[in-house]
Amino acid sequence: MKMFENIPKELTNVVVTGKSGAGKQPRIDVLVSEFQLEQLSTGNIFRTYLGKFNEFGYDDDLGIFWDEEEDSFVSDDEISKILETTDPDIILGMKAKYFVDRGLFVPDYITNELFKGFFSQRNFRGQVLDGYPRTLSQAKFLLELLEENKSDIDFILWVENEDNMIIERTINRRICPECGKVYHLIYAPPNDGKCKVCDTEVIQRSDDTEEKIRSRLKEFSEKVIPAMEFMEEQGVSIAKVPGHLEEFTPENVRKSVLGAINEIYK
Ligand code: AMP
Repeated sequence: MKMFENIPKELTNVVVTGKSGAGKQPRIDVLVSEFQLEQLSTGNIFRTYLGKFNEFGYDDDLGIFWDEEEDSFVSDDEISKILETTDPDIILGMKAKYFVDRGLFVPDYITNELFKGFFSQRNFRGQVLDGYPRTLSQAKFLLELLEENKSDIDFILWVENEDNMIIERTINRRICPECGKVYHLIYAPPNDGKCKVCDTEVIQRSDDTEEKIRSRLKEFSEKVIPAMEFMEEQGVSIAKVPGHLEEFTPENVRKSVLGAINEIYK
């Protein structure tokens, strides 16, 4: 890392942000391999629960679980009765699916508690926080959690990309349901429809349709940008990197990420 001599050798936690589909994963891979960090992704966590719910096999419309007047889910007891299970993972999976499949953020009270559970298991350090925080309430919750546990955030890595580029990329995105590896049908295709790492058939995410992508882009400008501005006001530096590179090679991605981080430590 000679060229990037300002960067500390060890980092505590890094937040990675950007519009959904901006190209976060290759940049996260750089952080994981260069700084021995682990990836903690709220999107992957929600997809795991959502997958459990799908396997459970309830195919009716989920609208029945939502109370329009109260603007919240009906009680967990009522959900249990309808689903005929008390398994908390299935109930959480239903709640995640309700929002994820609509291209909407999962409410903060669910996301914050779930995130805290996973973050505490990892001692509040050594993580690339992927897709968290995404709202002002989550940003405040995270900063308090870090302070209480004597931990910190080194910086935010913000992967920038244009909306039209994102729509093209996301429609062609495929993921491995087993190990989470991300593919692009044209730029980084899987091996004959199968994951190069674990040979599982890759799938398209249920929320990767144009309508849902547009909804997520709206969520980004309305909620994520204010959350990141708040973090910056609280003293967290932001390193911006382009999500689109003219020549997309692992070395170019690495240089662009480390170069941007190096700048903030000057
Ligand atoms: P991602 O894989 O990061 O694009 O996340 C997929 C979906 O999971 C999002 O569109 C949201 O529905 C949900 N999600 C992930 N992270 C969060 C978060 N921090 N807050 C609320 N919803 C989230």
